[in-house]
Amino acid sequence: MTERMLKFISLPQQTPEKREAAERREDFNEIYEDFVPATAQAQASRCSQCGIPFCSVNCPLSNNIPDWLKLTAEGRLEEAYELSSATNTFPEICGRICPQDRLCEGNCVIEKGFESVTIGAVERYVTDTAFEKGWVKPIRPARELPESVGIIGAGPAGLAAAEALRARGYQVTVYDRHDRVGGLLIYGIPGFKLEKEIVLRRWKWLEEGGIKFVLNADIGGETSFAALRGKHDALLVATGVYKPREITGPGSGLKGIVRALDYLITSNRKSLGDAVPDFDSGLLNAKGKDVVVIGGGDTAMDCVRTAIRQEAKSVTCLYRRDRQNMPGSLREVKNAEEEGVTFTWLAAPEAFLGDDTVTGVRAIRMHLGLPDASGRQSVETIEGSAFTVKADLVIKALGFDPEDLPAAFNEPGLRLTGWGTLKAHPKTFETSLPGVFAAGDIVRGASLVVWAIRDGRDAAAAIHHHFLAATNVQAAE
Ligand SMILES: Cc1cc2nc3c(=O)[nH]c(=O)nc-3n(C[C@H](O)[C@H](O)[C@H](O)COP(=O)(O)OP(=O)(O)OC[C@H]3O[C@@H](n4cnc5c(N)ncnc54)[C@H](O)[C@@H]3O)c2cc1C
Ligand code: SF4
Repeated sequence: MTERMLKFISLPQQTPEKREAAERREDFNEIYEDFVPATAQAQASRCSQCGIPFCSVNCPLSNNIPDWLKLTAEGRLEEAYELSSATNTFPEICGRICPQDRLCEGNCVIEKGFESVTIGAVERYVTDTAFEKGWVKPIRPARELPESVGIIGAGPAGLAAAEALRARGYQVTVYDRHDRVGGLLIYGIPGFKLEKEIVLRRWKWLEEGGIKFVLNADIGGETSFAALRGKHDALLVATGVYKPREITGPGSGLKGIVRALDYLITSNRKSLGDAVPDFDSGLLNAKGKDVVVIGGGDTAMDCVRTAIRQEAKSVTCLYRRDRQNMPGSLREVKNAEEEGVTFTWLAAPEAFLGDDTVTGVRAIRMHLGLPDASGRQSVETIEGSAFTVKADLVIKALGFDPEDLPAAFNEPGLRLTGWGTLKAHPKTFETSLPGVFAAGDIVRGASLVVWAIRDGRDAAAAIHHHFLAATNVQAAE
């Protein structure tokens, strides 16, 4: 075994080829090329097969990484796929968009001095190959069960739960207010990180497995929550978090100041070939504009890089902390810088300039103060340091809070946490309403795709136990 592995000593880390910045600015395709088989095999062989795999420990799905790396190194790709898909519903998606530097790869024991195994790229390669070779089979439950589960939200949490419940034989219907499946995977995350075909392929696969989708269904709007509750034996709420954090202050209501998700959804719809009037009118199109994006998370990074691809005249990201303290992935900052984005660290907007439409942002310099109780440094303004950035499109990307679900669903009995997320039992995933479960960002707050998958899978297991317990009670009666 060791003969084939432990190659990190002699073989340097190699990621899949990254397209030149000048080329990738021109389109919305993914920036990394596919691994060629020999490179994937060689890179997998760099794994040291260490005794305590910290990569697995730090993967939210506890993926059995060393074992599927070994199988890949040995050319046993179908087995590698079986193993990787046993713990991850969408390995090719996580392989593309997990912040591996903070999760599996950041904890690889060979990282110190040798650079980590490229775990994400191998994970993506294994499942892409499995799709190509026809090893990815539709879900075929061993038996059909009568209980039906309604899932509200076709994002990664809802879809992972749908797959796991259907595989156990339950009748699963997923409802979403959008016209396509995927949640933020399809309409939030841009194609240069995750091409849309990857998400559409999974939609088809889930449908082939017998999962029903009811789209354009805004639950709490035309379809009432109570009606769904009456229709299914259990409900899972996986609606994500969508209330954007707003910026107040002088001029914040000017035209040309837009919300990040409106901007990204528009761009993703254009990539999918939809007619989008707000793009065609120029409202949500950065072409020829001086663009300022406010925020430092993944959403802000996606906005700046989208604006570059829409041929903005200039793109500036304003963030009130510094590079080391930003919430977004540093890998994405590097990609954005290569593509021509200017980062103005330690700066926050003070006012928006213009009469009717925005023409500029007046910002003020910040400095980092002492850490607060959470250990995070406070930010303080520097008196007299105001400066102006020219802007005719300002994109607000300050993060998201949960919508008021008890009001939206007309269910005052649905209890919330202090943060406005749904209160769900950590083990049973049940909310304050019997038979109603919840998972993903709506419970956790804005998080990551890999955590949404984990929560969806765990919630499905909990719903299964809920049904088993109910059957046992009936049998005992
Ligand atoms: C721009 C952006 C970029 C991101 N980039 C990354 C990244 O690179 N890597 C990463 O790991 N994470 C990233 N994230 C975070 C990640 O996308 C989320 O954590 C994840 O999608 C949460 O999954 P979810 O299933 O809980 O919710 P969502 O993906 O938000 O899905 C919820 C679904 O519920 C539907 N819904 C909501 N309310 C209703 C209703 N009333 N009726 C019917 N349907 C409803 C919505 O339409 C949506 O389809 C990013 C997030 C954003 C916003
Ligand atoms: S799911 Fe994410 S954290 Fe886990 S091994 Fe894959 S890329 Fe790493």
